[in-house]
Amino acid sequence: MEKINTVIVGQGIAGSLVAFMLHRKKIPFLVIDPASQHTASKIAAGMFTPLSGKRKTIHPLVLEQIPFAIKIYQEISQLLGQNIVHLSNIYQVFNSAEEQAALQLKSIEPVYSAHIVPILGALPGIHQQNGACEITHSGWVNCELWMGLFRTWLKKNERLLEASFLYQDLDISEEKLSYKGLEFQNIFFCEGYRAIHNPFFNEKIIPCKGDVLTIATDHFATDQIIKKNGIYLVPSENNAFKAGATYQWNNDEELPDNASKLWIEGQLENMLINSFSTIDHQSAIRPTTQNREVIIQQHLQHKGMCMLNGLGTKGVLQGPWWANRIVELCMHSASE
Ligand SMILES: Cc1cc2nc3c(=O)[nH]c(=O)nc-3n(C[C@H](O)[C@H](O)[C@H](O)COP(=O)(O)OP(=O)(O)OC[C@H]3O[C@@H](n4cnc5c(N)ncnc54)[C@H](O)[C@@H]3O)c2cc1C
Repeated sequence: MEKINTVIVGQGIAGSLVAFMLHRKKIPFLVIDPASQHTASKIAAGMFTPLSGKRKTIHPLVLEQIPFAIKIYQEISQLLGQNIVHLSNIYQVFNSAEEQAALQLKSIEPVYSAHIVPILGALPGIHQQNGACEITHSGWVNCELWMGLFRTWLKKNERLLEASFLYQDLDISEEKLSYKGLEFQNIFFCEGYRAIHNPFFNEKIIPCKGDVLTIATDHFATDQIIKKNGIYLVPSENNAFKAGATYQWNNDEELPDNASKLWIEGQLENMLINSFSTIDHQSAIRPTTQNREVIIQQHLQHKGMCMLNGLGTKGVLQGPWWANRIVELCMHSASE
C-alpha cells in the first residue's frame, strides 16, 4: 500500500464523503470501519428538500448546499458506475385546510415561490381531500446502494481497513500521528453517534433513533416522493417504497420496535387509499446535536485531528458541503 496521508474513522455518509473529497484532491487515505449492520447511513431514505421542519422554512445556506450536493452525488455515481441520485419534486399532500392555507400563503413570498408550486395533476391512490402542492429542488439518494458500492470501491483500491478504531492505540506527536504501525498526518473522526466514546473531542451528540419500513403495494406506482402529515414515501428498489420515519430523541437502542412500526403503518393508512404490505423494518441511530448544528471541528492542539459529525436528520443534504469544508480547512492548516 502507498504511504497514506489521512485516516478516516467511520464509513457512513460523513466518512464516505470525506474520503471522496480526498480522492478528488488525490490525497492518499485509509478508511477504518467495522461494517456494522445497523447504521443510519445504510438505512436512510436519502431524501433531500429545501424546506425544513413543520413550519417549512428555507435556510439561505440550503440553497447553496443543494446544487453542490447534487454535483457531488453525480460525480460519485460516475466513479461507482451506477447512478445513486434521483432528482424529483416532492408531492406534498396537505393534511388539513389550515396547512393548505399556510403553504399557499408562503408560496407567494419571493423566497418560496420557486420552491412551492401547484401540482400539474393529482396523483391517484392518495387521500388528498385538502389538495397538494409540489416542492421543487428535491430528490433522494439511494444510500444503501451508495454505501455498499463505495465500500467495494474502497476495498478494491486498498483504502479500507475492516475493523473498529481503538482510540487508545492512536499515538499523537508534534510531527505525525500513528496507529498500529501506520503513520499519517491527519485523521478525520466520522463515527456517527458512536462518537460519544471519542476521547479527543467533547462535542455533545444526542442519539436519535429512527425506524423506517419498506413497503410494497400493487395499487400504486410513482417515482415521486410523497409526504403527508410528517410521514414520507420514497421510491426504492424493485417498485418498493421506504416509509418513515420515527424520531426518538435520546434513544440509542438500535433494534426496531413494534410501536414505531404500528405508528408508521397507521400514518400510511391515512395516506394511501389501497392496501400495502410491510416487507422490511429497520432502525438505526442518527447523530444529532442540541441546536441541529453540524459538528465540524479541528482539534485545538493537534490541527491534523478533525471531526465531522452531527449530520442529524439531513446527512444527505448537508454532508457534501461540510465534508468539503472540513477537508479544505484541514489541508489548508497542514500546508501552513
Ligand atoms: C430511519 C432513518 C431515516 C433517515 N432518512 C434520511 C433522509 O431521508 N435524508 C437524510 O438526509 N438523512 C436521513 N437520515 C439521517 C442520516 O442517516 C444521517 O444524517 C447520516 O447517516 C449520518 O451519517 P454518519 O456518517 O455521521 O453516521 P453513521 O451512519 O452512524 O456512520 C458512522 C460510521 O462510523 C462507524 N464507526 C463508529 N465507531 C467507529 C469506530 N470506533 N471505528 C471505526 N468505525 C466506527 C460506524 O460503524 C458507521 O459505519 C435518516 C436516518 C434514519 C435513522
